[in-house]
Amino acid sequence: MRLVKSKLWRPLDSGIVECLVCERRCIIKPGFRGVCRNYVNFNGELIHIGYGRLSAIESRPIEIKPLFHYWPNSTALTYSNYGCNFYCPWCQNDNLSFSEPREEYSVIPPEELVNLALRYGDDGLSASFNEPTVNYDYVLEASIIAIKKGLYSMMVTNGYLTVNAVKNLVEASVDGWSIDIKGCPKMRRALASIDHSIIYRNSKFILDSGGHVELVYLMVTNTNDFEECIDWIIDMHLDKLGPEVPLHINRYYPAHIWKEPPTPISKLLEAREKALREGVKYVYVGNVHDPKLESTYCPYCKKILIERRNYRVTAFLLERVGDKWRCPRCSHVIPIRGEYIAWKTMWS
Ligand code: SF4
Repeated sequence: MRLVKSKLWRPLDSGIVECLVCERRCIIKPGFRGVCRNYVNFNGELIHIGYGRLSAIESRPIEIKPLFHYWPNSTALTYSNYGCNFYCPWCQNDNLSFSEPREEYSVIPPEELVNLALRYGDDGLSASFNEPTVNYDYVLEASIIAIKKGLYSMMVTNGYLTVNAVKNLVEASVDGWSIDIKGCPKMRRALASIDHSIIYRNSKFILDSGGHVELVYLMVTNTNDFEECIDWIIDMHLDKLGPEVPLHINRYYPAHIWKEPPTPISKLLEAREKALREGVKYVYVGNVHDPKLESTYCPYCKKILIERRNYRVTAFLLERVGDKWRCPRCSHVIPIRGEYIAWKTMWS
């Protein structure tokens, strides 16, 4: 069995180690695993037991992540492993997130994953489904190989990594980040011990390093859906990230052990109006299947620029002028990273 040593940890006394992959910073005794079950203290060294033990591999449109301003209409080979560092009670992938990697599961080498993406005609890699932080060492290596082969690499994450982990991923050219904001400091019914400001610290770091970020706020009934929380999320977005960073406000449906009713549509629309009024330029409402709420409009002249239906691009009207994408009516510059993959019609 190949033991992959973690790149981010430090030894403490008596063979104990501290994992430095995410902000849980687990202190792990010999023979034990961290909270996410993916990192184990093996004879005083931190081993990534979950490395490359993949639970799913599947080509998916980038819009599903959601990333709406990154390589529009492209597909990413999406991969996951097992476990999580958060354990949200409303988890929609609980079969993966609440399980753990086992030694008998086979490892898919990162080279093989990249070759699969090329063979399927994908434009990039996406670490997703369960929390990719817990597959950190593998995501890092796969990304380095992917970039060399002309693919992009992106993550769908809760963003709770240490700064060093984010820095290493950015340096490995992970440049697309769909980051969940789970709530706010006043939340009491779930994730009360999480420091939600860390998500903004890391998002800002990525933006300042030249990466692309879109924030996703799943508005969960009776947890993070109260006015103070909505205000905090909008304020932090504008203050730390700025008005150009897209905000996705997504509808929650009952999942795992959370049985509260789905988010009322009126509440989602109110939050959208508030975010737009406060100055966020690109606000989307997801999981409601309304093309008006998932399409991109020019924030200046209001022309529709990218029409989407059910997370598929159905019309792309932006004009490329030099290295910028512009509104064809008023020439306003719209932030889009990467290319529009016009020929890919398989999802339309
Ligand atoms: S990655 Fe896992 S083991 Fe490491 S600090 Fe986070 S939860 Fe703990």
